[in-house]
Amino acid sequence: MLHIAIVGSGPAGFYTAEAAQKQWGDDVTIDIFDMLPVPYGLIRSGVAPDHQSIKAVARRYEATACSDNCRFTGNVAIGRDVSIAELQELYDAVVMATGAPNDKALTIPGAGLANVFGSAAFVGWYNGHPAFAGLDPDLSGETAVVIGMGNVALDVARILAKTPAEFAGSDIVAHALDALKASRIRRIVILGRRGPHQIMMTPKELGELAQLERASPRVDPRDLPDAGDDAMLEPGLRKSVTHLRSFAAIPASHHADMDVEIDFDFFASPCAIRGDGKVESVEVERTEVTAGRATGTGETYTIPCGMVVSCIGYQSSPIAGLPFDERAGRFASDEGRILPGLYCVGWARRGPSGTIGTNRPDSIHVVERMAEDLKNGSGKPGRAGFDELAKRRGLKLVTFDDWKQIEAAEAARARDGAPREKFVDVDEMIAAREG
Ligand code: NAP
Repeated sequence: MLHIAIVGSGPAGFYTAEAAQKQWGDDVTIDIFDMLPVPYGLIRSGVAPDHQSIKAVARRYEATACSDNCRFTGNVAIGRDVSIAELQELYDAVVMATGAPNDKALTIPGAGLANVFGSAAFVGWYNGHPAFAGLDPDLSGETAVVIGMGNVALDVARILAKTPAEFAGSDIVAHALDALKASRIRRIVILGRRGPHQIMMTPKELGELAQLERASPRVDPRDLPDAGDDAMLEPGLRKSVTHLRSFAAIPASHHADMDVEIDFDFFASPCAIRGDGKVESVEVERTEVTAGRATGTGETYTIPCGMVVSCIGYQSSPIAGLPFDERAGRFASDEGRILPGLYCVGWARRGPSGTIGTNRPDSIHVVERMAEDLKNGSGKPGRAGFDELAKRRGLKLVTFDDWKQIEAAEAARARDGAPREKFVDVDEMIAAREG
């Protein structure tokens, strides 16, 4: 019997469990751990609350969690409650599926001012992640600046732009919905340091901006390259650029009818955030892009604003003693092999890229490498050893059945039409299990 511990119950963790079941059938037991009492990682805390169809993939993970040789254990922080070294003593393989929960640092002056947030915090706030539920952003300013032109920037801009009615059917948490109802933000500026041909936004997500009730996306036609140049783009990016072209063609009369504008500011590199204790403006340098590389022109301008959300990518949390690639912000690994018996998958392996589905082939690939290394189990105790250790330490573990009780309690307290009202506090989650 092979014993595998997976640290992290997000998409990469569950796809790894699924791949391990395919690889070893009945000859493997898999334990998936999460520091929160609730599973699914990014599906619960990262995917936008108005993208419920993407969240539906959790049903597939549930089937894995409920299968015979797989077990979910929540409310145990590996690295705090139980060390990696201890897990390695208990299991034949330990797989880090810990994602990339930290923001890539925005290193410009003023980045530490109040009401400047990284996307991990801001997204965590509207998604009810316990670490960020108390963020309390001030949405009373008229302009918000969103830095970066990836899908997270799109999520943040869209959430800020929506009317309360547009959140029907979503699982946005009550504290965020209340704050957004009172929001006075009427202009959202998305800053991209490069041009329309270098955006990281995918077509479906970008197209959603044209469907908003009270907001319209605005692109300056002068920023667009010659239409003929789009032919050389890969098809997805070409479609996204087609959306930008259609935004540029929106007549001024339409913008005038809308309450909120979403401005795409290309060739715009933020160089400082100004304010007296709290953000009041962003200073931006115009760039020129040559062969895909942005260089500053020396021309600067100022965008007065009351809030900044930096959506410039994520990085993994290093763990003392484990090789870490600081520059890339992920574990240093050879095709997922960190050290003998220790692996990484998903964003912890390749950095924050791709869609949820990208993690499936990624996990299969790493499980294939594991299969090359692990021919037979080595007699380690696996789950029984973990349970003994947890008991000795008095850990308050949360089982998948407990999670189903928490899930039912969240569904029971949901507002009309919403799938759930999440608990945003770990103790509340645990109490819901006990209740
Ligand atoms: P991303 O796609 O890597 O985009 C990051 C953006 O930030 C880029 O435009 C980048 O510009 C910019 N940037 C980076 N460093 C910067 C700096 N110092 N100053 C100014 N701009 C900077 O990252 P993301 O948006 O966080 O998304 C992470 C992953 O999650 C992606 O794979 C994304 O597709 C995925 N995701 C998917 C969905 C969905 O499918 N619905 C939703 C959310 C997220 P440069 O290109 O110039 O570096």
